[in-house]
Amino acid sequence: MSWRATILTLYPEMFPGPLGISLAGDALARAQWSLEARTIRDHGLGRHRAVDDTPAGGGPGMVIRADVLAAAIDAADTDERPRLLMSPRGAPLTQARVRALAAGSGAVIVCGRFEGVDERVIEARGLEEVSIGDYVLSGGELAAMALIDACVRLLPGVMGADASGEEESFENGLLEYPHYTRPPLFEGREIPEILRSGHHARIAAWRREQAERITRERRPDLWARRRGGAE
Ligand code: SAM
Repeated sequence: MSWRATILTLYPEMFPGPLGISLAGDALARAQWSLEARTIRDHGLGRHRAVDDTPAGGGPGMVIRADVLAAAIDAADTDERPRLLMSPRGAPLTQARVRALAAGSGAVIVCGRFEGVDERVIEARGLEEVSIGDYVLSGGELAAMALIDACVRLLPGVMGADASGEEESFENGLLEYPHYTRPPLFEGREIPEILRSGHHARIAAWRREQAERITRERRPDLWARRRGGAE
């Protein structure tokens, strides 16, 4: 059975969107993964299928109701897959978490809207809050797409055999080294001599140095964590 993504959203028409194109889209067409976008509004209340209500205690915006979202989750075939809620409050998504999710059977992903979802459904349905960064999107759909894209490209056979992703940014606690390709001279800038030497061991050492330098300069947090882990 291929990797399954089940999305719970108010805007199912946003899917597959960019996930239907290029690497993820080709893999979807080859059935290396599957996508089901389910409409939370199908479980809305009354004639208008209301899904939200005003925040208890006052304040701006609307909150997705616990009973409506719980009914939507219960109606989905969620099996043993992790149940994720895209949320700026969640644990920041990391490549390690992406690898773990990609190694499983898929994910059930709830996309919030408005001010978010009633806290009680997060507890009652065991939703794991996941953030894709310290900024606020208007809805969880783009965040879910980012998470799915990151997982799908790691599924067996999705990237070519020569592109396992093992040397990529974050895989070893480092950002990736710089890349170059033809032409050899671009606006007065040359490809570093070492990369034209054909000396594989020296190239590997150079790339390592560059990855370490870039990580130190751009992401002192990653660098410190890496050094902490090495000691
Ligand atoms: N009131 C919420 C807060 O301050 O934390 C923000 C709600 S946001 C406007 C609406 C929805 O977008 C959220 O429920 C969540 O599903 C999604 N979202 C926004 N930013 C996100 C992020 N950085 N990572 C993951 N999901 C996000």
